[in-house]
Formats: sequence, C-alpha cells, structure tokens
Amino acid sequence: MNTERFLHPFSPQGRYPIGGGNEGQSAPRKLEGGSNELYTREFKLPSEVEASLSKNQRKILLSLVRAARRFGQLYTEYDDKSDPRLPFYPLGVKKERILDAAKSNPEIISPYTIVSRSENGVLVATPMHKFYQDKLKTLGILDLLKRAADAAGRGKDKDIKLQRYLKAKAKAFENGDYEGAERIWLEREDEPIIDIAIGFYDTYSDRFLGIKYSAEAWVGVLDRQLTSDTQWFSDSFLKWWQQTTRRSAPRAKMRIEHTRIQSGQAARYEWSGNSLPCQSGWRAAMGSKFTIFKPVFVDKFLHQKLPNLRDLIDTRKIQGITDSFVKLATLRTHIAHEIGHSLVPSENIQQRLQKHAAWLKELYCDLLALTGYRRVKGLNLRESEIALAMLLSEGYLEYQNQRKRPEYHKKSTILLNYLLEEGSIRVEEGHFTWEDTEAVFKGIASLLKEVQKMLEEGKFSDVQQLHDKYFDPTIYRHFLMK
Ligand SMILES: [Zn+2]
Repeated sequence: MNTERFLHPFSPQGRYPIGGGNEGQSAPRKLEGGSNELYTREFKLPSEVEASLSKNQRKILLSLVRAARRFGQLYTEYDDKSDPRLPFYPLGVKKERILDAAKSNPEIISPYTIVSRSENGVLVATPMHKFYQDKLKTLGILDLLKRAADAAGRGKDKDIKLQRYLKAKAKAFENGDYEGAERIWLEREDEPIIDIAIGFYDTYSDRFLGIKYSAEAWVGVLDRQLTSDTQWFSDSFLKWWQQTTRRSAPRAKMRIEHTRIQSGQAARYEWSGNSLPCQSGWRAAMGSKFTIFKPVFVDKFLHQKLPNLRDLIDTRKIQGITDSFVKLATLRTHIAHEIGHSLVPSENIQQRLQKHAAWLKELYCDLLALTGYRRVKGLNLRESEIALAMLLSEGYLEYQNQRKRPEYHKKSTILLNYLLEEGSIRVEEGHFTWEDTEAVFKGIASLLKEVQKMLEEGKFSDVQQLHDKYFDPTIYRHFLMK
C-alpha cells in the first residue's frame, strides 16, 4: 500500500483564522450567557491540490466555501451554553412535558424542529428550515448553492451529479425535504472531486434530550490517492464484521479529503471524521458515507495525539515504533470507528437513552474499531496494539477538552476505568502500561458486548448505572502530577 505520501504531511496553514472570513456580514449578536465564538475552521489546500483544479472547479469551491462559512453562523448565533435546553427547547420546560406533548404531536421530538411555547402555553414545533428562513435568505446561502450548481453543470469537467445534489440541497432548505438531497448524495458510485455536506445533522449540541440536529457544514477536495490506498483496510474491516455477525453490512462509502472549511457544530467539535446520514433508517435504505478531514486529522495527530502518546504510554510498549507507524494505526482506527457508526444497533436510541446516547455510541464505535482491527487478517499485531495505546492516551486529551467535547470525555474515561478496574491495564509512574495485550483486548471485547446490548435494548437506567460506575475522572490526577 502506498501510504508514503500521507506520512509526509503538510502542516495545516493559518491555523483556524477564526472569524477571518466574515465577508462583511455583521458579527453575530452576542447572546446572554452565549459564548459568541465563531465556529469556523479553515484550511489552506496543499498547493498541488489547488493547482489541480480547473477554473470552473475553483468557482464551485469558492461558492461552496462561502455557503459553508455563512451557514456556520446559524450555529454560532444560537449557541448558548447558559441552559442545556437552548436553543432547541423553551427555558424551564421539563423533559416529561416534552415527551408527553410529543404523543399528540410527534413533530415536537423531530430532530429537525425547534420547540417553543405558544401564547397560551402549548408546546409547538417549528421546522428548522422555517425557523432559520430569514437568516438563510439574508446570508444568501441558497443563492451560493445554486451558483455552485450552475458552475457544476458547465465546462468539460462538468459534474452533473454534483449539480443535481446542490440543487436538491438548496430546495431542501426551502421545503424541509432533506431526504431527497441525501439520497442523491449517497447513491452516486464515484466520489465528487469537490464535495459539500451542509445542513442540520448530529445531536451533540442538544444537551437536554440529545434529539435535535444542529447546523454544520464542510467542504473539501477529494484525496483520490489516499482514499483508494485505504480502501483495502475499510473492506477488510467490513468483511471481518460480516463474518463475525453473519449479517450483511450496509453500504458505507469512504472519502478522505483535503478539507477546506468546517463550520458550525462540526468546527466546534473539531471532528477529524464524520459519518452521515444520522438516521438509522436512512442508513439502512440509502447506505452511508464517512468523510475523513485530513488537515484536521494531521494537525491533531502531530500536535496533540502523537506527543501525548509518547508522554503517557509506558516507553517499553512503544519502543522502536516510528511516528509513521503510529500515524497509520491512528488513521485506520479512525476509519474503523467511522464505519462503526454505520453499524451501531439503533432502534430508537435517541428517545430511549437520551443524553446518554451520544457517548454510548462513541464508546461502541471505539470498542468495535479496536476489536475489528485486532482481527483483520494480514496485519502486524503491533498495529492494533498501538491503536489501543493511542485510545488509552487520548483519554487525557479529552479530559483537557471536556468542556468542548463532553461526550468524548465520558466515553474515554469510562473505557479507561473499566480496563483499570478489570486489571488488564494499570497506571505506573504516570504511564499506562499492560502485561498481556490479549487480555486487554479481551476486556475490550467484553465491554463491547455489554455496550451493544445496551444500544439494542438497554433502558436509560442501565446506561446511567454504567456511567455512574465508571465515569470517574479522578484517574487523570496521575497525569496532572507529571
Ligand atoms: Zn464517532
């Protein structure tokens, strides 16, 4: 496999010129208690990638980057951490009241609505495309999508499928039919050179019930070489899963891209990968696609994950392991994790597990990724051991990042405490270490079983119990002393 190119990463330029691209739009209004952080992360394309684009493709890219940048403002302006209900539910409302109101009006718990109180105190649901209607118009987002669609239909490198998708996206923001656009996006066999995901996705910002989607977008240029180089691992992982579960895996497309921009919720969470669509029913019917944001991945790897791993893991465990080897293992873990999102057993998870759904799913994807990585045939076992070491050490990074990504802090702390209590790993002089690697993977497999059961049929109280038993961040004091 030719991974050499990848192992000499460019360094991301202009680290997140936050707020740099406001294009003369008025600055977001500061909300009471709101953070007023502008969630946009922009990356410079490597020069050879920039040079490979035609004039027309540059035009498309420009319009889409602008659309994504402005779309992020929908998230930023309504981001308010003063109450977990905001911005999706009215202040003071009780959970029971919402769930009760949903019995007669299911739109209340649709991921695509904002709930408010009417004058006579009744809970009402406004579809997001209506709620944000004026904003979408004044920011010119639909026009930018249509302009990009026009450009996509022109020239000798025209991309008619991209054009259809962009038109459907613009339409979706007018009529709330997101499914049609999603289908066009997922059903194409090849990967577009330039791609955009823009819309209301992922429930992470709903800290109250974990049901509502938030505005987010990303735009990037396909890394064709790396995407095809890593296809083998992706296929092998899925093959392992099918053989183990005797089930047929849903279609999951993969794209590794030179991301140009992330905005809204995606920028706030600094994701290095994402898998869409979010609805399990849609995934089953249309398949899914995960995107690895290469500049985010590379930047995090070089500046956070790698030094943190070298710092926290027993040196005897990583002796002689090169940085490139660690990087390959980290990328593959990411890919397996993202595939995991399309395999999450998910009957009604959000409604059943509510605020516990997000971290439990993340934990599931980590456990599945490690277990499968260990079993994929033809790989050096040191790879999955390094993947394990990386995940253990990442707990400390997530601990430092807990205010920004509380779900990730939860899942990694729970994993660490589970393995510590079980005794397969331990902390020695500020380092994680273990004697028997197979025993650690056994522990991971048994936690995977438990988590899988909870996702399939667990009650809220079961997950609460797991949470209370293992969510103990005091373990990180070992590392604070260093
Ligand atoms: Zn994930």
